[in-house]
Amino acid sequence: MLRIEAFGGYGEIGRNMTILSFNGVKIALDCGMHIDRLLETNCNMDCFSQQELEYLGIIPPISKVSNLQAALATHAHLDHIGAMRFLNCDIFVPCYTSLFLKRSMKVNSAPIGKKISISDDVEVEFIPIAHSTPQTRVIAVYTPKGTIVYASDFKLDDSQEKIDYGKLEKLGADVLIVESLRVHEDGKTPEEASVKPMLEDIIAELENKGLIIFTTFSAHIARITTAIELAKEIDRQIFVMGRSLVDHVICAEKLGMLRRKYKLFSRRNGIKQALDEVFENGHETFLIVTGNQGEPGSVLRRIVEQNRLCSEDTVIFSCNVIPNEINIRNRQEVESMLKKQGTNIIKDVHVSGHARRQDHANLLQIIDPETVIPCHGDAMRFKAYKELCKELGYEIRILENGQSLVLK
Ligand SMILES: [Zn+2]
Ligand SMILES: [Zn+2]
Repeated sequence: MLRIEAFGGYGEIGRNMTILSFNGVKIALDCGMHIDRLLETNCNMDCFSQQELEYLGIIPPISKVSNLQAALATHAHLDHIGAMRFLNCDIFVPCYTSLFLKRSMKVNSAPIGKKISISDDVEVEFIPIAHSTPQTRVIAVYTPKGTIVYASDFKLDDSQEKIDYGKLEKLGADVLIVESLRVHEDGKTPEEASVKPMLEDIIAELENKGLIIFTTFSAHIARITTAIELAKEIDRQIFVMGRSLVDHVICAEKLGMLRRKYKLFSRRNGIKQALDEVFENGHETFLIVTGNQGEPGSVLRRIVEQNRLCSEDTVIFSCNVIPNEINIRNRQEVESMLKKQGTNIIKDVHVSGHARRQDHANLLQIIDPETVIPCHGDAMRFKAYKELCKELGYEIRILENGQSLVLK
């Protein structure tokens, strides 16, 4: 008997976790945190015990799982790995994610094109797919009762990652568990490569103007790389500021994805000193900073609150606003302070890392599973998936947290 159990992220957006059990072997697919719920508490993870985090719905109900053999994560976003440190089992993640996690826990980096044996009869495999952070993987779990394929998160973007479509076709999936964040949006998600010409035009225009402040998601190495290249083209000195950004940039450097053509500042004092110099020396710098959602304590927020910007300066938001009350309010506050200082605001220079409806249709036809289980979404998104499966002739099973599907 093979059981697929919905543990987190089914009927909600955040704290993704699915448990597979076969013959006494249990495997967790992702183990993330619910970032919006943590934001609501105004505290960080360290303020709470594991029990409190579970009670508040910030992490999945991990204490209910006993005898977990292994946990596998698809990529380095916190809604997929943010609760891994509470697990006591072997952990396999892509190399980039392992570098990111290694400071706090012991993890194994999973190779490409090679199966990993979890028990006598269960093997797993990591297959490259594109998303908005490096080395995102689809995970295949092979058991004698069937093959489970887990795709969360993904987009089909050949400009980003070398996607092995042939391999995906040959997996022979009995069940596809798949993210559903943007399945209700028609069409295809634009390629990451389409952002570069947009940013190129914007940044070229700013060449002889004041300070340029660029902000995006900290794990979005492709976007950060583009910003660095374009800043170099206009001969600006580049400062990368803020702890989460610096952490990710260092992981990317270790894998040879980035070369140090910039200065890194992660400590409060270092950031303060560097900013003092920037503002004294006529603003001729390109800053890449944390604070794309206007978060309190982020570098962007601190700069804005210090009232030091002027009408020659520009802030580029290369992101969307994650639609929850707190982010919307934080961004409004930052933008209205910027407007008061007369600073030029350029926003939404962004494409998503999540598949839209047409990408989902393509993935279904490539993987061609017997059954589909949508994850990483709420009722509205699951309904959209249901309609898509109906149209394409795929069987779908909707699970809510706590429910399971058993293959006999
Ligand atoms: Zn993600
Ligand atoms: Zn996600």
